[in-house]
Amino acid sequence: MTQHHQFDALIVGAGGAGLMAALHAAKHAKVAVISKLYPTRSHTGTAQGGIAAALANMEEDHWEWHMYDTVKGGDYLSDQDSVEFMTRDAIDAIIELEHMGLPFDRTPDGRIEQRRFGGHSANYGERPVMRSCKSADRTGHMILQTLFQNCVKQQVTFFDEYFVVDLILRDNVCRGVVAVHMDSGEMHVFHAKAVLLASGGFGRMFSVTSNAHSLTGDPVAAAFRRGLPLEDMEFFQFHPTGIYRMGILLSEAARGEGGVFINGQGERFMERYAPTMKDLASRDVCSRCIYLEIKAGRGINGKDYVYLDIRPESITKYKSAPGGRAVTAHELETKLPDIIEMMRVYQGVEPMKEPVPVQPTAHYAMGGLPTNNDGFVRSNAGDGLVTGLFAAGECACVSVHGANRLGTNSLVDLVVFGRRGGKALAEFCKQSDFAPLPADAAGEITAELERIRANTGQEKAATLRQEMQAVMMDNVSVFRTEALISAALDKVRELKGRFQHVQIDDKGRRFNTDLLETFELGCLLDLAEVTAVSALNRTESRGAHSREDFPKRDDVNWLKHTFATIDRPSGAALTAGAMALSYRPVVVTKFQPQERKY
Ligand SMILES: Cc1cc2nc3c(=O)[nH]c(=O)nc-3n(C[C@H](O)[C@H](O)[C@H](O)COP(=O)(O)OP(=O)(O)OC[C@H]3O[C@@H](n4cnc5c(N)ncnc54)[C@H](O)[C@@H]3O)c2cc1C
Repeated sequence: MTQHHQFDALIVGAGGAGLMAALHAAKHAKVAVISKLYPTRSHTGTAQGGIAAALANMEEDHWEWHMYDTVKGGDYLSDQDSVEFMTRDAIDAIIELEHMGLPFDRTPDGRIEQRRFGGHSANYGERPVMRSCKSADRTGHMILQTLFQNCVKQQVTFFDEYFVVDLILRDNVCRGVVAVHMDSGEMHVFHAKAVLLASGGFGRMFSVTSNAHSLTGDPVAAAFRRGLPLEDMEFFQFHPTGIYRMGILLSEAARGEGGVFINGQGERFMERYAPTMKDLASRDVCSRCIYLEIKAGRGINGKDYVYLDIRPESITKYKSAPGGRAVTAHELETKLPDIIEMMRVYQGVEPMKEPVPVQPTAHYAMGGLPTNNDGFVRSNAGDGLVTGLFAAGECACVSVHGANRLGTNSLVDLVVFGRRGGKALAEFCKQSDFAPLPADAAGEITAELERIRANTGQEKAATLRQEMQAVMMDNVSVFRTEALISAALDKVRELKGRFQHVQIDDKGRRFNTDLLETFELGCLLDLAEVTAVSALNRTESRGAHSREDFPKRDDVNWLKHTFATIDRPSGAALTAGAMALSYRPVVVTKFQPQERKY
């Protein structure tokens, strides 16, 4: 039996973006948050390093400097009007979080303490600046808990462990979502005036990733399957310091406090590549340098990893801490408690005495659902908007991060654009009526889920997932070529064909993770295909997209955003159709594209 609900506004996702939007929308509208995870388990809770804002609590800083760093970090693909909103509003958003009760670290005189982070500089690239506000290395955890408590206070309704499988989108009007209640397996139709998607990233398409198992991009895939465009999907960030082989993240905060990279010859190699920012160059740059060192045979023992060295005596020797001062083990243990613990537990090393093996790990989707500055989802590469559909956070592409995001700029994106989106959502609900639901709104997606449940084919989801992750990691990661991407695309398409023959073991209704994880795999396959198609098409190197066959940035032909859509013939299966690409110009206001130097 299908259950029905009605709310003014629905928010899909209970991470930082979803909760910030809910908090602001709930002041004026009846809001429900739907989440496949219990809210405080959302990935935002794992964010370690901090949240950027030019508060200037530690040293001189200005939002214009933050804006410049973000645009430069994004390799000039960011829309500069959006970056201006973000870096200006960041200051006020941090104060708002503080007033909600977020326990930031403090300076001795009681102000919010800040630290250095990759790519953030003073005076337009002159030297690293302390801009990241933080709660030790548990900043995301504190943000998530604070927002959740405030949502409870604001009486937001939560549907926890409801898995959204489809958008009810007809004639360019969003009318709600369809979700599976995970406990009972029942289908639920949620009717609403407006929906805001805040479902986070989809790094699980790669084998080595910092992303939680849940980051599979299902609502993004649902929107794509319903004909909406995805923007700049070729840009996927690899963070330079994943724990070797596991991909678990060791925050850049470690380098902000003075940690350095060391190659197999004991050399601090980033000095060679980035003489000013050194180990605090942007992430795309550091990840590429690590690969280049490995390729040149200078990995540790000739293998595919390098060291992250946070030993107090190394930091003192290299004068790599802020101000070149000496640091103590006690100080590092206080500022980086969780990541030091992770190094000990997951890698079995003693980071105060030994360097830690690291390799780049798939971390962040710069691409996603295109939105304007108020969170309205775009319906095409022109100025078209979808009525009643919003997006914010990592699943959205505003685009502030352009071709490469700076560390600590995601959390600030969540709160700034979550807030803007939440306010716009409430305003939209005030002015709109409910658009009628189509007959049998859950019909198509129920049929697809039943097809997966009843399938008797010979394929296993685990095998397909592993093959997809391996080929995406080997062929579509830090360095790419036409041959590599084409091979990956063929493989992903083969896997999509085989996906039609997956058989699951659990045919039951209650908490059927076998079914839902298989469904997630289908979503990842669609997003992997869009990623590969967009990457193959962009014949230049920019930010996180590095083509060995086109090593230069090409502003004449490629200073533009990619929009990928699927053209599904009416009546065809939800996942079928041919892909089409179109382009949207980049908004350039204050900063003309220049060569990036760190
Ligand atoms: C290990 C790690 C450390 C990081 N550190 C930092 C940092 O220090 N600073 C920084 O700025 N950024 C950091 N980032 C990036 C940043 O944390 C994320 O980009 C950000 O938290 C994403 O927030 P979000 O609100 O968009 O989504 P998330 O927090 O990922 O939440 C997604 C929500 O969507 C829900 N959802 C997803 N699919 C469905 C579905 N089908 N049905 C229903 N609900 C669904 C989930 O239940 C969840 O509630 C880090 C990321 C990682 C992985």
